Amino acid sequence: MTGDAPLALPAAAVRQLDHCNKCGFCLPACPTYIETGLEVHSPRGRLSLMEAAWRGELSVGQELADALSLCIGCRACETACPSGVHYSTVLEGARTDLVQRRRRWVMPARTVPALLRLVRRRRTFRTAIRLGRAARRLPLPPSLARLTAMIPAGGDSPRAVARPRPTVPGPPVHFVETCVMSALFPTANRDAMTLLSAAGAHLVSIPGPEGCCGALEAHVGHREMARQLARAQVARWERHLAPDTWLVAHAGGCGAMMAEYGRLLADDDRWREPARHWASQVRDFAAALAALPTPLTFRGTGMRVGLQNSCHLVNGLHQGEAPVRLLADMPGDRLMPLAGQDRCCGAGGVYSVNQPSMAQQILARHLAEGDEAAVDIWIVNNPGCALHLEQGIQARGGRARVQHLATYLRERWLDPGERAACAQEG
Ligand code: SF4
Ligand code: SF4
Repeated sequence: MTGDAPLALPAAAVRQLDHCNKCGFCLPACPTYIETGLEVHSPRGRLSLMEAAWRGELSVGQELADALSLCIGCRACETACPSGVHYSTVLEGARTDLVQRRRRWVMPARTVPALLRLVRRRRTFRTAIRLGRAARRLPLPPSLARLTAMIPAGGDSPRAVARPRPTVPGPPVHFVETCVMSALFPTANRDAMTLLSAAGAHLVSIPGPEGCCGALEAHVGHREMARQLARAQVARWERHLAPDTWLVAHAGGCGAMMAEYGRLLADDDRWREPARHWASQVRDFAAALAALPTPLTFRGTGMRVGLQNSCHLVNGLHQGEAPVRLLADMPGDRLMPLAGQDRCCGAGGVYSVNQPSMAQQILARHLAEGDEAAVDIWIVNNPGCALHLEQGIQARGGRARVQHLATYLRERWLDPGERAACAQEG
């Protein structure tokens, strides 16, 4: 016990602490526990520390800060928990208090706050990406060198969105391009929109610049900023979209964040109900594609495929099955069964910048699995995973490619003309 004020947690987080019976079923699902074998780096250990700090039995000091900093926030513990403990509610509450006391405890990398501000300003972000590519040849401090090394080489010039006429008209769909995807991987976004349109989506756009969903802010304890961004998003959707519009994203972390808006704004009388409604309209790209009325035809190219499913898509949005089914059903390619397919790769928003050593250790396990299965191509559905895997494969001199699910599918999609030609070939 120290003279520090106890850890401040919102009532919703305290309720989650009450649900945890310390059974430990979550431990084998936790990437940092798998790597360290230490209780302090397990979900149960972290919950115990947060509870002790909230009760005033443990100082809100370095031990707690280190334990929470090393947590990726992947939420695999929530999926594994038989008691339904919503771990991320407690984690975000605790990190918010830590940030208010001393930011550096949660964000040891000094570049992270600047990075978050940059991502929110799209035009500046795009300029920074161009500058970052050019700066790679210069001698840079290690934290900046790590960031610039993650920028995909060569730039990505987006294909136009093709709007094939669907045979059966489907629901209105607003494609949420999201900050990092639109700046670094616009082609994948365009590919996703083309396929959604071909499958029957009626794509609807919104005038003006799209805002940030707030995922990165929420993960590092900037809860108020995340709430502000969420309100702005919901206001925009409310103003411009019909209530039955699906909100579709090809970024698991952003999709999961938008699906949490109801919880994030639960105490906000003005925004609670609209936030709940729009959160229920969120679909990941693969889940949306599978639910649209016109089934698409694909033909594979003899590849051995590894899936790195976004952990937030699996554990937050709970739509991780759809990409697996799409890949498993791909004629001509083979989805390799990888034990870590649904486990976090270590990217974790800004985690790979904040905790580079653990992020690399976790990634090494994934890449070793892929090498053992002789994977030719890694499929990703979150931009952070794409950057993290690409950098890891390059650093090891690996031969596997990394591709966004939408681009992989678009390359294998047989549009009606190609389908007819295939049928004639026999
Ligand atoms: S979080 Fe769930 S699985 Fe983990 S110890 Fe608590 S009750 Fe058990
Ligand atoms: S969020 Fe992920 S890293 Fe953190 S305790 Fe849960 S399983 Fe472990």
